[in-house]
Amino acid sequence: MSTRLRFGTSLAAGMLFLGASCVGIMGSDEPEFDVELLEGARCSVTYSPSTAWSNGDGTGGAVVSVSFSASVPLNGWAVTWAFPGTQKISSLWDGQLSQVGHEVKVVNASWNRSLASGARMEFGFVLRFQGEHVAPTQFSLNGLECNGSQPPSPPSPPSSSSPCPGPVPDGYTFIAGQSDFGRNSYIEYLPGDLPIIISAPHGGYLAPDEIPAQPGAVRDGGSQEYARLVYEYLVKRTGKRPHLVINHLTRNRLQANSNRDVSTAGNKYAGIAWDEYHAYLRAATSWVASACGKGHYFDLHTNGHAEGWVELGMAISSAQLNLADQALDVQSIRDNATIRSLASRGGASFVELVRGPTSLGGLLDAAGIKVVPSPTFAGPGDGGFFNGGFNVRQYGSRNGGVVDSTQIESHFSYVNAGRQAREAYADKLTTAIISFVETHYGFNLDIR
Ligand SMILES: [Zn+2]
Repeated sequence: MSTRLRFGTSLAAGMLFLGASCVGIMGSDEPEFDVELLEGARCSVTYSPSTAWSNGDGTGGAVVSVSFSASVPLNGWAVTWAFPGTQKISSLWDGQLSQVGHEVKVVNASWNRSLASGARMEFGFVLRFQGEHVAPTQFSLNGLECNGSQPPSPPSPPSSSSPCPGPVPDGYTFIAGQSDFGRNSYIEYLPGDLPIIISAPHGGYLAPDEIPAQPGAVRDGGSQEYARLVYEYLVKRTGKRPHLVINHLTRNRLQANSNRDVSTAGNKYAGIAWDEYHAYLRAATSWVASACGKGHYFDLHTNGHAEGWVELGMAISSAQLNLADQALDVQSIRDNATIRSLASRGGASFVELVRGPTSLGGLLDAAGIKVVPSPTFAGPGDGGFFNGGFNVRQYGSRNGGVVDSTQIESHFSYVNAGRQAREAYADKLTTAIISFVETHYGFNLDIR
């Protein structure tokens, strides 16, 4: 039985699926689509390698990008094609795979079921093949044949689903979703298309001989891991990608959250890596400023303070946070905070942004996370507290600009107490980040 779905030549309204494998009609155990593609529906598919093909006994990765336009959205989708060669997909993300011989069918995952008209959707995979990789060219979406590399016609309306429709800044050559690496892959930038930047400066594992270890600098255990989880969950929840910058060097090779001298201890190769790390952060913030007009940078760390709380650093000191609301909400504190731009935009008050119910701390607090500042812990008292280091001060809006920042010091008890706890925490943090950015910046990030 062919797994290809086909439409008849007559694209009348009230379309029927023709052919032997009519999902939704035959009552098979395949997912049912309660959708009918109406007259004039169009789709466009591009197939691009996500890594360099290694021919011969081949392996590689690919991303399939689907654009769709019609008078109704799709609630459930299946993309089908036939590989021309011996390609066999070994793992696939952002969809559910079935492959029989050359015939491939990818059905939506639970979280990307809906495809609005004018929207674009992607999934990716790793595959193996013999000889030379030849890309497939004929794709179908729910049985509708797509027109290869041509854009859908009529052109999609300006994508209201993109929070960042503005121009790419001059000289920015990165492509969302494709990692860029510095020298020796010490530093990684995974460019995004959301008004959100994430970094992990203290979670690396590379310890090359060319950079001597600095004494006393210990890894923020689990910080790279939960940064990647938050990245992954944001992609699943929004259908778009945050920017992610990772220092893969151990913290005692490159501090990456201090100035250049302290970070590198004068080592030439650490210096190159420091320059790359900060060039990537500059690129990400300039992209967000230009394409989104505003946004937020989250610098992710872990802490082991005895209080067991998550600490949110906005360059507001413990002493300042320990003040009553009225004394906290003064210009000298607002203007030095890393959320200066957000606080001056005429929305929520400074105190609300720092520790109200809709602050990041308020949202985490409501999700059962112990966090300071928050409605429950307005200030740290004399407890342990990191109020924000070099990165959030450099790239947040205290020096101007429209990108704000928060240093998130997640406690070990949330991040390093097993995979289940880490995933549960990362999920709550992702929810809080989406809610915070939507509430205070006015973006609509959740496309589900
Ligand atoms: Zn740290």
